[in-house]
Amino acid sequence: MKITIHRGTHQIGGCVTEYESEGWKLFVDYGEELQGGPKTGTLKVEGLTHGYLSKSTLLITHYHGDHIGSVVDLPESLPIYMGGLGVKIQDLLSTQLSHRDERQAKLKERLDSFYTFKPNELLTIGPFKITPINIDHSAFDAYAFKIEAEKMSIYHTGDFRSHGFRSGKFSKLMEKYVGNVDYIVSEGTNIRRITKGAEKESDLQKRFIECFKDHYANVVYLSSTNIDRLFSLYHAALEAKRPFLVDEYQRKMMDTIVNDGGLWNKSTLYQYGKFPPYDVSHNMNPILKKLIEDKGYVLIARVGSQFDKIINLLPGEKHKYLSMWKGYVDENCEAYNPSLAKSLGKDYEYMHTSGHIDMADLREFFRLLHPKGIIPIHTENPEEFANHFSDEFPIIVLNDGDSFSPISLQIATGEIINWGGF
Ligand SMILES: [Zn+2]
Ligand SMILES: [Zn+2]
Repeated sequence: MKITIHRGTHQIGGCVTEYESEGWKLFVDYGEELQGGPKTGTLKVEGLTHGYLSKSTLLITHYHGDHIGSVVDLPESLPIYMGGLGVKIQDLLSTQLSHRDERQAKLKERLDSFYTFKPNELLTIGPFKITPINIDHSAFDAYAFKIEAEKMSIYHTGDFRSHGFRSGKFSKLMEKYVGNVDYIVSEGTNIRRITKGAEKESDLQKRFIECFKDHYANVVYLSSTNIDRLFSLYHAALEAKRPFLVDEYQRKMMDTIVNDGGLWNKSTLYQYGKFPPYDVSHNMNPILKKLIEDKGYVLIARVGSQFDKIINLLPGEKHKYLSMWKGYVDENCEAYNPSLAKSLGKDYEYMHTSGHIDMADLREFFRLLHPKGIIPIHTENPEEFANHFSDEFPIIVLNDGDSFSPISLQIATGEIINWGGF
């Protein structure tokens, strides 16, 4: 089996990985490069963007734009696979954005031809045996893949973390469905972003409950597709006895999860409690108005003047929270979002925990899988990643476009291989 990282060895956005065996090609992710981040431009990849496609397949780990955003540029005959609920969420998101974004309108159309897989159910494509592993991330229904061919196993992590609501079950999940693997193609987003351990999603929820109890009027800025956080805040609001207010789009998003009937609905997190979320995007009826006046509220806010109007109509002195990565409101950061910074203002509380694994947890995760080598992707600094882990694991640092054939190389533990230098 040959591994090629077409993009993502030195950047977070737009990772594209190829696994090749017996002439068959399995690609993972085809997303957009991050705004303001490094750019490699349009990719030309035989068997993906052009050429012979009959033995090619693309797997999508999850619906974040840096993983799925560019599939509209790919030939229509290329089969694309993704998790079923992830497709539904992307469909809602694309529908929401399609009136002002032509690429989202195209993506919505393309989704109709997607094939879907189920968590932990083996998928066979040519010589590849693929197990999609449902992992915890700030996107819902996100996957890692265990890929087996030619008596070799590779674990492609996708974006993930082990401090989410399912953190207690993480090592059991790995033990049951993954076991030992030969190589790991691992995300390394937080090599620079987090220096100490990430806060657990459940601890963040406890802090929110206290805040919601303390404040009458709560306004939280949060990505509507961060489903775990959305439901976490919903239950936190119930606990604090404040009505939970959303707009029509967010309500649809929540209904889609609650009504899915999948494995996750066994968890009370993805079920509605005594009171449902209230849609405040249209004129509020007098009963809801009275309820809000009496009880206060938790509003999940979105960016834009239309939403600012909704906020202004609500009573009380607003206590604002930012519950997404603070880089979006940092003028010095490449991902700076001026509209968000404007709506949020200067007076707010930062209440967030990363959707990506921190380095201490990543080390524990590697120990569970006993790899012979680890290839970092989805990171701004693979060299720092290599220095961090090379005391215990062989790290293979590739450049974009480099191929790695595991058979041809014996690596010692603790060694850093700069493959591009060979
Ligand atoms: Zn992601
Ligand atoms: Zn990503």
